Amino acid sequence: MIIDLFINACILITFISVSHNFLKYKDITQNKSALLKVVTGVSCGLLGIILMLFSVHITPTVITDFRTIPIILAAIFGGIIPSIITAIIMCFFRVLYFGFTKAAMISIAATMLSGIGYGIISIIKNTRKDKWIYSVSYSMLVSTIAYIILINDKALLLKFLIIYYIGILFVSYFVYRYTEYLSELDEFYNKLKNEATVDFLTGINNVRQFDKYFNDLAKQTVRKEESLSLLFLDIDHFKKVNDTYGHSSGDIILKGLAVILRDTCRGFDVVSRNGGEEFSVILLDCSSPNAVVIAEKIRKNVEKHKFYISDKVAINITISIGVSTYPDTTDSIDNLLGYADNALYEAKRAGRNRVVLYTETDIQE
Ligand code: GH3
Ligand code: MG
Ligand code: MG
Repeated sequence: MIIDLFINACILITFISVSHNFLKYKDITQNKSALLKVVTGVSCGLLGIILMLFSVHITPTVITDFRTIPIILAAIFGGIIPSIITAIIMCFFRVLYFGFTKAAMISIAATMLSGIGYGIISIIKNTRKDKWIYSVSYSMLVSTIAYIILINDKALLLKFLIIYYIGILFVSYFVYRYTEYLSELDEFYNKLKNEATVDFLTGINNVRQFDKYFNDLAKQTVRKEESLSLLFLDIDHFKKVNDTYGHSSGDIILKGLAVILRDTCRGFDVVSRNGGEEFSVILLDCSSPNAVVIAEKIRKNVEKHKFYISDKVAINITISIGVSTYPDTTDSIDNLLGYADNALYEAKRAGRNRVVLYTETDIQE
């Protein structure tokens, strides 16, 4: 029996590890993909079949298995549809492999009741811990009724139930701990990934992500022989805003500006906060006349926007924008960053609140 339990543990660990690797960082319960739900149901169904084939021998004639665990896994990590699919697959296999007997009928009823029951529990309970506790309790209730119907010998029934309870509590706690450990790793990984790419204040790309996008898009632009425009934006006299209204008001403006940039640009343009009150926009497949039009639109939208720093107080700000475009204003895409910066400097020097396009020969406003 110990060897059987060990084999079951190995099967469960292997399945959970492999499926975690495939589904990496995806929450199936939140995912609307019907295909993903079917795949979850089918794979948990296959796990159930494997567990049925490697059942645990309590005595040479009395055997049990942990087929209920895959249904619980399908319900908790997939929802009610996968848990019912898992149950149906296991019922089919039960009949095809072991034949249609009284035991099979009871097993089918118990399995289907489990599939539906765990699915409902996964909907009405919020935390994974509660879902496990209620599902395992429900599983013990359903199994107890099934075994009472199936086993007539009272002494054997008692022995069977005690071993089954210990086994199911042990295995489900073990699976619960392992899946929780993997979920915590996922959450930690996603948090780190997010913090590494997203600006904490505005929610747009940070400078690291800007660099990555710029390098990737620069290569793609040269290969496809397209245009690429870069806008560098800087808030005018932002220090004065901070000094007058306070740093937290300044933060409200930075967040508001990020929203304007996102709303004004196209969905596939790359909007980033490069640091402090400096932002950038990478405009894909965009010639310099178009880039200037978009930059001018951004500048005007910012100029006319009222930034509410409290319920009653709204302030206006202006921004300066430097524009450079490959291949219109430079033959070398590597120059785009430096040239956009030069154009921004020129916009500041020329009086602020303006858009300046850089060209290699001279700077044009
Ligand atoms: P210019 O028109 O020449 O750009 O003048 P400026 O005052 O905007 O430029 P300067 O570089 O002198 O000041 C930038 C200010 O931006 C100073 C700094 O306090 C502020 N700043 C940088 N990061 C943040 C931030 O995260 N939040 C807030 N509120 N202010 C910030
Ligand atoms: Mg600045
Ligand atoms: Mg500034």
